[in-house]
Amino acid sequence: MSSRRLVLPVLLLLAAGTGGASATSIVRVADGPLADRAALIARVELADRRVGRFHDRIATEYEAVVVEILKGYVAGSRILVRVPGGRLPDEGVGLKIFGAPEFRVGERALLFLGENEDGSYHVLHLLQGIFRERDAAGGRAIFQRDMGEVLELRTDSVDGRPAREIENPARDAELFESWLRDRAEGLEREPDYFVEASSAGTGSFTSPFTQLVDDFNLRWFRFDDGKRVRWHRHRDGQDGLSGGGKERFKRARKAWRRQTGVGIRLPGAGTTTSTTGFDRSDFRNTILFSDFNDDMEEDFDCIEGGVIAIGGVSFILTTTREWKGEMFYPIDETEIIVNDGVGCLFQQEPSFADQVYAHELGHTLGLGHSCGDSASPRCSKSELLDEALMRAFLHEDDRGAELNDDDIFGARYLYDPDFFAAPCDLPPGHKRFCKRCGPCGAGQGKCRSDSDCVGDLVCVPDAGAKVGLPPGVDICLPPE
Ligand SMILES: [Zn+2]
Repeated sequence: MSSRRLVLPVLLLLAAGTGGASATSIVRVADGPLADRAALIARVELADRRVGRFHDRIATEYEAVVVEILKGYVAGSRILVRVPGGRLPDEGVGLKIFGAPEFRVGERALLFLGENEDGSYHVLHLLQGIFRERDAAGGRAIFQRDMGEVLELRTDSVDGRPAREIENPARDAELFESWLRDRAEGLEREPDYFVEASSAGTGSFTSPFTQLVDDFNLRWFRFDDGKRVRWHRHRDGQDGLSGGGKERFKRARKAWRRQTGVGIRLPGAGTTTSTTGFDRSDFRNTILFSDFNDDMEEDFDCIEGGVIAIGGVSFILTTTREWKGEMFYPIDETEIIVNDGVGCLFQQEPSFADQVYAHELGHTLGLGHSCGDSASPRCSKSELLDEALMRAFLHEDDRGAELNDDDIFGARYLYDPDFFAAPCDLPPGHKRFCKRCGPCGAGQGKCRSDSDCVGDLVCVPDAGAKVGLPPGVDICLPPE
């Protein structure tokens, strides 16, 4: 990401949206079911990557050296791991699937994999089957899952102590491997491998993935001329919802305009029978309510969890354009694909559909995750990021298509010409940040007065914790 420093929180959103990774709406799958479903569990080192078309679809293929196998069998010492999306300079096009993981060459990880028909592999549940390897204090290796997670350890049944929570738990490499080997042989036992991040050495938990491999910005330029982006629904409609989800999808589309006040126009264009999805362009933006092309290899399961939906965009490589001093690829066509098996989830709580549709629409506008994947901060760092509709994981409540300030800042940075968050060589929160790099955008500090803030934002004292800065930092935010 060159030397320019992106700033919070607007640009965190951008950093997530434009960079590495990830995801989709997700309900986490626990280690046990993940292990049971894996054809192969292996500790690997990523050796090489290339982008190509595989059965029409643009994908990035990683060559991985197998260091150790914990479940399954491979002939030879190398495997191919394919993840959807990538840029194809020869064809001048790119595909970004929000939710697809990203690796750096040389990186080590423990991967839970499913096998493809051609003998290559895919990461289980898109990004959930990835445990990155880190060195902890005392030379121990640990594995940490990409996604921020909170683990509740129930110890009360054992010695009467109350349940305690571990945020972002790490897994002791040796203990986890032995647990997985046992599980592969049919011996199921209680997890004994979790360690708290702090006890595993805090320094090693800084994500090494802030330098994103595939770092680029995406936005629609159509809205600037007052044009619209029309959405088709697949004729079959959504399982588990009355009316096939028509009204809920409409509500989600309207949320992005009504709640941001920006000219994001997403009118409906009726139904379609086209199921091309990400395979090739049909010149339509379409929501598919079933995974017709197996873009998500594992179905969603209401007991185990999984990926609920993915959103992705196709873009043209040859026509980068400038917006607020940065280069963007214009988005050309977008799709939302809801996973098979999601009907039971929406039946349980129909407003989950509003939330999921609005979240995926956020991706199709160019927004990444506010938190919870390898390209964004840990959700526990900031309530503002954790409460965003664009966090990587489903909020298990009935909020529906409700954006929070962070979602709104992100959308306004992308689509409101008067809303700025300037790139700057100082870290956000630095005492001279607003002076040198300002005026400060939403979530930036340190401000001294309202005049340090852009537009109608005000300087709020001691609010730094909201965006992952020290609590004593004064930051610019919209007036209450
Ligand atoms: Zn997402």
